[in-house]
Formats: sequence, structure tokens, C-alpha cells
Amino acid sequence: MSTSAEDMKKSHTFRRFEDGEHEWNDLTKKIFVQDTSHKCPTYVHRTPPCQGSCPSGEDIRGWLQIVRGIEKPPADVDKHEYAFLRSTTANPFPSMMGRVCPAPCQEGCNRNVVDDFVGINSVEQFIGDTAFEKGYKFQAPAALSGKKVAIIGGGPAGMSAAYQLRKKGHASTIFDAQEELGGMMRYGIPGYRTPRDVLDHEIQRILDMGDIEVRTGVRVGEDVSVEELEKDYDAIIWAIGCWTGRGLPVPGWEGTPNCVTGVGMLERFNQGKLKYVPEKVVCVGGGDTSIDVVSVSRRLGTADGAAPMEDVIAGKAVHEDGLDRRPATVTLTSLFPQDEMTASEEEVEDALREGVDIKCSVMPLEVILNDEGRAVALKMAECDMVDGRPVAREGTEFEIECDVIVAAIGQTGDLKGLEDFDNGRGLMDADKFYCVPGRAKHFVAGDIVRPHLLTTAIGQGSVVADTVDEFLNGKEFHKRPKVDVHHFNLMEKLHEAGLDPDDYQPDYVWGTSEQKFAIHNFDDRSEAEIISADHLFLGHFPEEPRNLRETDVPDSDHVLGHFEERVKGLEEEKAVAEAERCMSCGLCFECDNCVIYCPQDAVYRVPKNESTTGRYVATDYTRCIGCHICADVCPTGYIDMGMGDH
Ligand SMILES: Cc1cc2nc3c(=O)[nH]c(=O)nc-3n(C[C@H](O)[C@H](O)[C@H](O)COP(=O)(O)OP(=O)(O)OC[C@H]3O[C@@H](n4cnc5c(N)ncnc54)[C@H](O)[C@@H]3O)c2cc1C
Ligand code: SF4
Ligand code: SF4
Repeated sequence: MSTSAEDMKKSHTFRRFEDGEHEWNDLTKKIFVQDTSHKCPTYVHRTPPCQGSCPSGEDIRGWLQIVRGIEKPPADVDKHEYAFLRSTTANPFPSMMGRVCPAPCQEGCNRNVVDDFVGINSVEQFIGDTAFEKGYKFQAPAALSGKKVAIIGGGPAGMSAAYQLRKKGHASTIFDAQEELGGMMRYGIPGYRTPRDVLDHEIQRILDMGDIEVRTGVRVGEDVSVEELEKDYDAIIWAIGCWTGRGLPVPGWEGTPNCVTGVGMLERFNQGKLKYVPEKVVCVGGGDTSIDVVSVSRRLGTADGAAPMEDVIAGKAVHEDGLDRRPATVTLTSLFPQDEMTASEEEVEDALREGVDIKCSVMPLEVILNDEGRAVALKMAECDMVDGRPVAREGTEFEIECDVIVAAIGQTGDLKGLEDFDNGRGLMDADKFYCVPGRAKHFVAGDIVRPHLLTTAIGQGSVVADTVDEFLNGKEFHKRPKVDVHHFNLMEKLHEAGLDPDDYQPDYVWGTSEQKFAIHNFDDRSEAEIISADHLFLGHFPEEPRNLRETDVPDSDHVLGHFEERVKGLEEEKAVAEAERCMSCGLCFECDNCVIYCPQDAVYRVPKNESTTGRYVATDYTRCIGCHICADVCPTGYIDMGMGDH
């Protein structure tokens, strides 16, 4: 078909040249002679966005390069152990994270621009599970300082603080109101998502570092007073999480016995006390907690003769095994449309497969009570979100019959006996160093500051440990870098490889020459800069589908009594293949492009006996003509034509 006269007159949608451009762009001249800047390559380390978006700041790129075999361990360390040690520098729970972290790192991953993100948490699970299998330990901690820290709460924030403090040489005592450590990893998230043998192992590995005393079954504020702690300890870290569920703000909720909270229900289920649910369960939520409530309800089912759920939650009864189960009818309601629910897309799909009825864009209006004052239905209406608040659509009201209503719409702290610390919103205030404002030697971390994720609590546990360490050593608090993470450090890497530069001067981190006292051609901007995809040479990376983990999500007919683990880890071969999809944003991954394409042979490989990660290539500046080909063909965005700027 020929082009019509009309189409011929239309402007093209893509033009290589602008109007008025009539000079031939001589690439040969541009590239092979020199550019006009006279600048030469410098090697620049930046933080990759995966690390920048991981709330515990893991050196993800580092452990991916170790798993795929590019970054080498020291001679006496196994590759898997080295990957484990790198990942746990920031976060001592790789098996937990790999399974249930919603992985904000993956949203940030530059690989999304090429095809699909790197399956970071599947490789993290592989690292953690291999460590479990092989029984890796944390490296010998520093000698004791003689100082002692009280940590209130043995959830992820408190355990992370104890771990980081012990690495710095400080002993601690962890107080926890529950019988076992783990916080919401044990008493919130069900065991088919965080298997208890793996959780126990990851907790024990921290305790095995020694000098971390554990006092479980002790509630601070009731069994032990704040004054006692202030007398006995050099510093106090509050990591008590959020254990009070919010009720529904609708008439009929307050004081109704069969209106309960999600955290209350899950606590009893995880303690092994709640084994059945009523016949008709309605859960109001849309986030992580609500998904666990409905998935657990579908698994437990209902049974004639079981004590009422609210009695088990209130501690008045405990369910026994042995009753005949049958499926419960379970409904989940959310204010938002399905694709805007806070729970991840996968979790929502799993719940649907398990037979949960999900009603989206609806709001609760009233709890309908019977003559005995028990909830028999929840009155709802379709709604729109206006300025963050739900507004009911008139005439759309309807009722859902129920035997129990579970509210999973958020939590605050349980500050019984600790009312002085309440900031008025059921939480505790923290300044930027995680000190409790106006309370000398009190520090705080985790959900009690702002409920979020496991990895966030773990990251804050690490920051608070830095602050407490500075406090115990009488130092001023250190200004946190803009990108607050556990960065790759070339000096440490050189030291580990036995390649310490001679007579190194810390102020001189820019090197232009081959003198050994300078860090050869390396500029570390990782504390301030995150590298975006447009800095990379993306053409280097062919499309590769993500290596997916298998999941065991039962359908509606098979969910009853199904408590097997949901996510199966990757085999080694697949974990390595997945790590190989990483584009190593911001750090050399030894592809040799710059060496191969340099027309002047100015770029060369550092001799093998002097080479390590971050010191693999160098430039002979007497040969470089500033053509910038090496910077153009570097896939990782590690080369800047910057030499000459300084
Ligand atoms: C049901 C549910 C599912 C979740 N799912 C996920 C998920 O899939 N992925 C994810 O990343 N996050 C998830 N989260 C969020 C995550 O669990 C929390 O962000 C995280 O556990 C917070 O850690 P924390 O250490 O601050 O508090 P917690 O884990 O709550 O631990 C606090 C600890 O303090 C103890 N304590 C409290 N008060 C006292 C006191 N006065 N004295 C002594 N001890 C006390 C408690 O017993 C507890 O052990 C979920 C949360 C819930 C409730
Ligand atoms: S903790 Fe979460 S955000 Fe961090 S690397 Fe692991 S999966 Fe990613
Ligand atoms: S490609 Fe690799 S280094 Fe880059 S953001 Fe993704 S995981 Fe991180």
C-alpha cells in the first residue's frame, strides 16, 4: 500500500536531525582523534538503587557478585559463607528477609528498565538457607567494652540492635514479654511464611555470639520498672513494636465481644491456642496483617463445639486438637481497589486462590448487633477515596453476615506502664539519631517509631546501635550520610586481599598515578550518589527472564489444614543464574569492554597479583586521548570522563 498524499505532508514522529542541521557528524573525528575536554577516565563507585531502597541498606550488589563468582572471597573462606557474611553485615536475618520481605529493593532495581527486576530476595533466601544448612556462624565479635545495654523487645529491631552492639563489643540484655524471641516474625506472621526452625536458627546464631542475656516472659513497665533499668544499664533501647490493634471507627464496634483485632487473633494462633475460627469471618483491612488473618482463617476452618474466638483471644479459653474441621466463609474488605491494596499483588492473588472473597472499594458503616449485643453483620457501602479519606456512595449500602469481625486497619504500641513515653499517638518519638527526645540514655527503634516492615526495623536497629556506641564512648553523634547504608569499601577490600596501599593518606582518595600510596583511579561517591539506569550502557544486557521460585499455594478445595511452607527456595544453579542478571550498577564487574574498545590501548587490566574488586582496570594517562569510548561502553556506569576536572 502506498503512502497517501495526506500522510506525506505529516511530520515524522521521530527525527534523527533537527531542522537546519546539515553538517555531517564525523564520528571518526569525534572518537578517534580526541574530544575537546581533554578529560580522561576516572573510576567512580556509586550506590546502586537496590541498596538505596533497601531499608536495612544491604550491599545487595556485593552479595550478588559473590554468588555469581565475580567478587572472590579470601583464600580460606568458602564463597557461600562469604556471601552470607556480606549480606549479614547489615541484616542478620537473610532467610526471613528472603521469604517475607516485600523487597522494596526490587522496585528500585535498574534492571526493571531492561526487562524485569533482579529476584533479589530469592537469592537472599538462597544465601540464608545455605548458611542454615552449612551451620555458618557470625565471625568472632570484638572484646567486651564493659558497658551493658538493656534492649526492650526481642523482635527484629531489638535483635538487630543486640547483634550490631555485640559486633562493637557491647553486651546487652533483651527483655521480652513473650515466652520466645522473634516479635512479629513469630507472633504475627504465620509459620508457613516464616518457618519456625529457620527463625529459631537465625535468632540462636545471634545469641551464640555470646554476652547477649535473654529475659523472656518479662514485661517492662509491669514486671520491671524503667527506674530499675536506668539504675542497672548504661543505655536503654526501646524496640517494643506495635501490639495494640486499632478498632473500627464505626457504631457498634466498641465493647462488642465478637469484634476483635487481627494482631490479637494472630498472636493466639501463633501461640498454638487458637485452632478454629467461627463459621463466617469478616476481616476489614487490605494490608499484610489482614491477608494473614484471612489466609489463616481459611486454613483453620471452623468446628462445632470450639470455644468462641473472642474467649481464646481474651485468654479465657484454649482450643484443643481433634475437632472435625470444615471450611469457614472468609471475606476481606478493603477501602481501595484491588491494585491499590497495601498487601502485595502476589499475596492478594494467593488469598483469592485460597478461597477468600475480597470486596474492594468498600467501607464499613456500622456493626449490626442482635438482641444479645453480638455482631451478626457488618453494614458497608461502596466508596471513593477523597483526599485520603473514604466517602460512601449513596444508595450502595449492603450487609455481610458474620460470626466475628476482625479489624486489621493498623496498630499502635502497647504502652501499659510506659505512659510517659507515649507521644499522644500511641507511638514513641525519635530524633534523627533514634534518641528519645528529652530522655538521656534512652533510644528507640522499629515499629514503635512508625509501623513499617521487618527490614525497616532491622535497619533502625543498626543505626541505633551506632548511636548507642557513640554515646557509650562519649563521642558526638556522627552525621549520617545521605545514602545511609553498608557500602562497599575499597580500602577494606584491598586490606582483605593483602593489597594495602603503601603509606596510604586517607585525605587523598583520588588517584591519578600508579604510585601505591594513592587509591588507584578510584573515586568513592557512594555515600552521596545513587546511580540511575540512564548512567548505564543498557545495550550490554540481553533480555533474560527472571528465575522464579516455586510456591505452594493451595486452592480453595485444598486449603483446609494446609500449613506447608509457601515459598520454595531456588536451587544453586538458578540462584547463580539470577545473580548473573545483576547489572552491577555503579561498580566494575570485570567485563573487559573498556580494555577491548580503547583505541589507544590506554586502558589496561591491573596485574593479577594487584587486582581485586574495585581495582580491576586502570588507565595509562600518557596514552589516553580523552575519546570517552571506555565510558560509553562501560555497562555499569562506573567510568566518568572526570580526570582533569580536579
Ligand atoms: C500480621 C503481620 C504480618 C506482617 N507481615 C510482614 C511481612 O510479610 N513482611 C514484612 O516485612 N513485615 C511484615 N509485618 C511488619 C513487621 O512484622 C514489623 O514491621 C516488625 O516486626 C517490627 O519489628 P519490631 O522489632 O519493631 O517490633 P515487633 O516485631 O513487634 O517486636 C516487639 C517485641 O517487643 C516485645 N514487647 C512489647 N512490649 C514489651 C514490654 N513492655 N516489655 C517487654 N517486651 C515487650 C514484644 O513481645 C515483641 O517481641 C507484619 C506485621 C504483622 C503484624
Ligand atoms: S531486606 Fe528486603 S529490601 Fe533489603 S535486600 Fe532483602 S529483600 Fe531487598
Ligand atoms: S541490576 Fe543489580 S546492582 Fe543494579 S539495581 Fe538491580 S540488583 Fe542492584
